[in-house]
Amino acid sequence: MKRVSIFGATGSIGQNTLDLIARDPGAYDVVALTGARNIAQLAADARRVSASIAVTAEEDLLPDLRAALEGSGIEAAAGPKALLEAADRPADWIMSAIVGAAGLAPGFRALRHGTTLALANKESLVTAGPLLLAEAAKHGATILPVDSEHSAVFQALVGEDMAAVERIIITASGGGLRDWPEAALANASPADAGAHPNWDMGQRITIDSASMFNKAMELIETKEFFGVRPSQIETVVHPQSLIHALVGFNDGALMAHLGPPDMRHAIGYALNYPDRAHLPVARLDLAQIATLEFHAPSPTRYPALAIAAQVMETGGTSGCIFNAAKEIALDGFLAGQIGFMDMAGIVADTLDAMSSQGSLSIAPQSLEDVLKTDQIARDMAKRIITSRFEQKENA
Ligand code: NAD
Ligand code: MG
Repeated sequence: MKRVSIFGATGSIGQNTLDLIARDPGAYDVVALTGARNIAQLAADARRVSASIAVTAEEDLLPDLRAALEGSGIEAAAGPKALLEAADRPADWIMSAIVGAAGLAPGFRALRHGTTLALANKESLVTAGPLLLAEAAKHGATILPVDSEHSAVFQALVGEDMAAVERIIITASGGGLRDWPEAALANASPADAGAHPNWDMGQRITIDSASMFNKAMELIETKEFFGVRPSQIETVVHPQSLIHALVGFNDGALMAHLGPPDMRHAIGYALNYPDRAHLPVARLDLAQIATLEFHAPSPTRYPALAIAAQVMETGGTSGCIFNAAKEIALDGFLAGQIGFMDMAGIVADTLDAMSSQGSLSIAPQSLEDVLKTDQIARDMAKRIITSRFEQKENA
């Protein structure tokens, strides 16, 4: 039996992972499930798959979790330390699907035990890519990409020599606002930006798709995970979201990965790797689909892409600052403090402000370094939002 733990079990990726696991109960021994505020879901899932322990990130919710698990024999724990301890529990495969930089530390910790880490938490690679890969190498642990584009690239690279790779193209749906006139984007609400045309995902990544901050993160993720130069990475808008990524080789061949927009494919690939198993995803009918469209993303509609290009060139702490500022800008947008198109400005200004305090190209040396930079960048981004917001109020 494969021992598995799921970090972020109550989220969109976590639920899709549980769906696959619950279909084959005899094959898995579920060790830990973690969540945050949705205690009812966490407890119900822990009971359903007979997990050994359920952990909520929220310390104050421990009594609720205990009550919800009463009589089940399932352990309950809470808080960031408990999340790390859950990552110490022996497992063969761990899904890293907490949203945001909060997912970094538990994934990092799991690598210490040589566990295979299925990585949905793209923030881990954006904030601490080189450290994460070094930690995996040090302990002989495998990291498998779960982001659909990166799983697609990974699959296209099986049996290939990286030296023969010329370019990697990741596709973008264009997000929920892709058909809006550009001038109207400034007035988009979180509800407008939070509806995705093709994928059913968590709220934050869905809004990041509309702004293409998600694609920006994925460009950085591509550079970090596959070790290619920024100039080798491209993105193209592909409204159907059926091709997830393409790899171009030095003989001119372009290998595309196609599939329905269903995360259970990428999750299932990582779960069964290196084997392929039957997965409950729809099969594409190409004659019915008939047309696949592509166009270049507009730099003015999607300013996040140019910021990502800069971050990839700079390296060092810039990915961590980029992500932290993006998370704070997104919080500000969700709270109605700033507009949809203000988010990119906040991120760019945070990077500028941080670079005036010291070079961003100096690589963080430890997880602690990363977490410290993350906190400083969050504070900086908050100050920038507050000062802009106050200027607006006073105007
Ligand atoms: P989600 O918001 O649906 O779920 C997030 C999970 O993280 C929940 O279980 C939540 O309880 C937990 N969580 C939230 N804040 C936490 C904190 N501070 N500490 C500990 N746990 C916390 O998110 P999602 O859409 O499932 O995305 C999860 C990760 O996977 C993200 O990094 C996202 O970018 C990535 N990803 C998601 C998709 C997708 O289809 N949803 C696709 C590719 C990559
Ligand atoms: Mg993706």
